[in-house]
Amino acid sequence: MNSSPFYMLKSNNNTHGGYSLSMKILDGKKISAEIRSSIRKESEELKARGVNPTLAVVLIGEDPASKVYVGRKEKGCEEVGFTSRKYALPVETAQEELLALVKKLNEDKDVHGILVQFPLPGHLCQTAILAAMAPEKDVDGFHALNVGRLFSGLPCFEPCTPKGIIKLIEYAGITIEGKNAVVIGRSNIVGKPVAAMLLARNATVTITHSKTRDLAEIVRQADIVVAAIGKPRFVTADMIKEGALVIDVGINRIPEGLVGDVDYEAVSRKASWITPVPGGVGPMTIAMLLQNTLKAVKGNIVG
Ligand code: NDP
Repeated sequence: MNSSPFYMLKSNNNTHGGYSLSMKILDGKKISAEIRSSIRKESEELKARGVNPTLAVVLIGEDPASKVYVGRKEKGCEEVGFTSRKYALPVETAQEELLALVKKLNEDKDVHGILVQFPLPGHLCQTAILAAMAPEKDVDGFHALNVGRLFSGLPCFEPCTPKGIIKLIEYAGITIEGKNAVVIGRSNIVGKPVAAMLLARNATVTITHSKTRDLAEIVRQADIVVAAIGKPRFVTADMIKEGALVIDVGINRIPEGLVGDVDYEAVSRKASWITPVPGGVGPMTIAMLLQNTLKAVKGNIVG
């Protein structure tokens, strides 16, 4: 495979029967490796000055997917020379205990970022836990203050997956301004914030969801498509305009393996740029968490 983060696939026979001649794959693995390497340099400089970047990761219970995500975040910290402090608590942990831990981490000067892995077990209130977290340590960007600042166009901790999506587009050198962007999905962690971030960069943004009428027709108008639905291969080639940039956020485990929300093989034939699953948005999410942690170390959410 080419060493560039953007590699081009050649058409099988120079017709539209094969891949589009100019279709490029946005390789999140490679781009995130470049970002991690620059974070590592900064981390070393900080350590030489006696500052040890530290992320506290709180995991409640035994949810297998959450354990995998926490493991990836710990590995990411290790790779850039950050300390990750893991707090693995039993599933029956009471709300007061978790709130007390968050409070303790808020006050701990050696902890720069705090991440509580969601979803929480049903008896715990996600909103209350987020509200208790110091916004200046909220490296996931989920605290209401950070969300409000994001939607007001003010400096804040941007949530990691949307931030990673914007970085991918910028790395590709694609101008966002003036483009028609269609976001499929309106979750608080992906759809809504990525729409706000595209809007802030002067795209004309449409957010679609499960009640949207004529979804395919709306998506066909898009220069930029962000699919964050959670349904395997939901976005098909007939929904895509020739030359569109397609970002696939979905992670779906099916008997064949891991697939995104986009029918990759068919959509690749029409898109100018596309992210693979795995190896697209996922690695960028971790890289952005590390970048937010570095921002927390520097002690301002304004920078
Ligand atoms: P949610 O389940 O919170 O949201 C899914 C959204 O998709 C909802 O807004 C829902 O609409 C919409 N939707 C569902 N069915 C349809 C439909 N038929 N037509 C149009 N819209 C539909 O998911 P998340 O945003 O948390 O995640 C989406 C996907 O991205 C998942 O596969 C998840 O695993 C993955 N993900 C990947 C990350 C990464 O780092 N790569 C990070 C986060 C998520 P409505 O609101 O009307 O119900």
